[in-house]
Amino acid sequence: MQNVVIIGSGCAGNTAAIYTARANLKPLVISGHEAGGQLSLTTLVENFPGFPEGINGPDLVENMKKQAQNFGAEFIHGSVIDTDLSQRPFRLNVEGDWIETRTLIVASGASARWLGLPNEQKLIGHGVSSCATCDGFFYRGRKIMVIGGGDSAMEEANFLSRFGSEVTLVHRREEFRASKIMLDRARANAKIKFLLNTVVDDVHDASKTLVTAVTLRNLKTGERWEQDVDGFFVAIGHIPNTRIFKGQIETDPDGYIISKGGARTNIRGVFHAGDVQDRTYRQAITASGAGCMAAIEAERFLEAEGH
Ligand SMILES: Cc1cc2nc3c(=O)[nH]c(=O)nc-3n(C[C@H](O)[C@H](O)[C@H](O)COP(=O)(O)OP(=O)(O)OC[C@H]3O[C@@H](n4cnc5c(N)ncnc54)[C@H](O)[C@@H]3O)c2cc1C
Repeated sequence: MQNVVIIGSGCAGNTAAIYTARANLKPLVISGHEAGGQLSLTTLVENFPGFPEGINGPDLVENMKKQAQNFGAEFIHGSVIDTDLSQRPFRLNVEGDWIETRTLIVASGASARWLGLPNEQKLIGHGVSSCATCDGFFYRGRKIMVIGGGDSAMEEANFLSRFGSEVTLVHRREEFRASKIMLDRARANAKIKFLLNTVVDDVHDASKTLVTAVTLRNLKTGERWEQDVDGFFVAIGHIPNTRIFKGQIETDPDGYIISKGGARTNIRGVFHAGDVQDRTYRQAITASGAGCMAAIEAERFLEAEGH
């Protein structure tokens, strides 16, 4: 029987592990399919406080993990494939083995949707990004492309126009899902050019491990061409990793956990941390802050229950 199980080993899960381990609760962290979370996909992180020269994303999460292990946190590989949260202790199926826990911290993140281009994954962190706040600064005076037609694509394009020499917004249709106000703002921005009815067939150049250009295709005319680009931002949404809690933890229609205040979910003893509940900020530091909150709540919950 565990006191605390943490699902996810990104910034949120690892920070929750540091705090619960230092509270002597011997947390068990289930790393999931992406050990280290989204930061393990990226290179330089320049906005996490405490690192004046920046730090590589994988190093940052690995440091957090070591810090948690130093205080007694245990990490196991594998993913939670099923859950029974109907009563306490909660039961979690980790790839076939059921484990029991008094409290649960859900830090399973929200994965960025990617386009599925042949070279896309190879170039993440080397010009391909899903986060303007994180990576826009690297593209000062450079050519930027944003893919998407929703509010987040408009928001990212507007934000990136502060840095780029030009921002091309590529959208496969003529109509937009974005709200009128966001679309109008992007249209009024002289730096943003729209390429409609257009899709990206691939991003280059994987052999240089650097984004240099994209192949575009007009869906109406079939015309195909290459365009130079330095920063390639995919803004087509995120998928919260909450499928395993369906019908148990309350989520909004997109699958984000609905907070019941602090780090609480609708189930007593189950707490949320990080991007799995946050559709607004989605940053390493906010995820870490949320991990701290969830850990303190779990610790107080256990204390109140006499454990
Ligand atoms: C390319 C890229 C660059 C970024 N750069 C920056 C940056 O420079 N600065 C910044 O502040 N933010 C950056 N971000 C955003 C930042 O990475 C996220 O906000 C942060 O990682 C969220 O942390 P999290 O712990 O909530 O979730 P995640 O990092 O998404 O971690 C989720 C964890 O849950 C695990 N998991 C999921 N499902 C299961 C399951 N069923 N069972 C077990 N485990 C599971 C995964 O394996 C993973 O370990 C970047 C994101 C990306 C994609």
